[in-house]
Amino acid sequence: MSTLPLADRVALVTGASRGIGAALALQLATMGAQCVLLARTQGGLEEVDDAIRGATGRGATLLPMDLQRQEKELDMLGPSIVERFGRLDILVHAAGVLNKLTPVAHIEPRDWNEVVAVNMTAAWRLIRTCDPPLRASDAGRAVFLTSFALDAHTAYWGMYGAAKAGMEHLALTWAAEVSKTPLRVNIADPGEVGTYLRAHAFPGQDKAKLRTPQDVAPGLAALCTPEETRHGARVAIEA
Ligand code: NAP
Repeated sequence: MSTLPLADRVALVTGASRGIGAALALQLATMGAQCVLLARTQGGLEEVDDAIRGATGRGATLLPMDLQRQEKELDMLGPSIVERFGRLDILVHAAGVLNKLTPVAHIEPRDWNEVVAVNMTAAWRLIRTCDPPLRASDAGRAVFLTSFALDAHTAYWGMYGAAKAGMEHLALTWAAEVSKTPLRVNIADPGEVGTYLRAHAFPGQDKAKLRTPQDVAPGLAALCTPEETRHGARVAIEA
């Protein structure tokens, strides 16, 4: 009997209630990982859990949590997962919020606070709480979802772009800090994927012409395997 590539690995996936995070969680689970699924929507998490159970015969662990408003719980995630499973090997920060496209001069504080909290501040808090168990793993892996199109500083994308730029900077700096450990940290761009987030930004876009979350899940999952050697890299996912 062949051993699955992520057998015995424990993975925390944020943004796992729909879209790319959900597809990636299913992919990681079919590769053998025990997945901890984090998002706000209990119903979405349960659907992903059902899909994982159907594909693998064993369920995931559901963590309904608001990354913006439940900072205390977020700060305890690393130790809580270690207490429950004895280890944490994989962190994927796929939770993301675009909110609205708007000129920089018109950004409202409430929108700014949400976009920065979910895309950037949560990344910092996840790094803080997950760093010890990920370093302790023999093959810790961390992946942060971003969009390289934001490098173009396109008009109206400033709020989302600033938050993702901050997240990327934190992740790549952390990568430099852990480079002498087995932990591999990368940022990844999935390309144009037909999800809720994208439909919100481009309501008229033909979904049929976009990638699906399932198209990009294998490329993202590859970054989570013990064999992965890329580190501190900006990876454009091929579908
Ligand atoms: P999506 O379908 O809208 O999914 C976003 C996920 O983030 C959902 O699971 C959502 O769950 C979670 N989330 C949002 N706010 C949260 C909060 N306050 N607390 C906890 N979880 C929260 O978007 P997607 O397209 O799959 O995006 C996944 C990642 O890929 C994002 O980081 C995005 O920036 C990035 N990305 C996407 C594209 C694209 O074309 N789609 C391109 C480049 C990069 P709940 O609402 O249940 O909380």
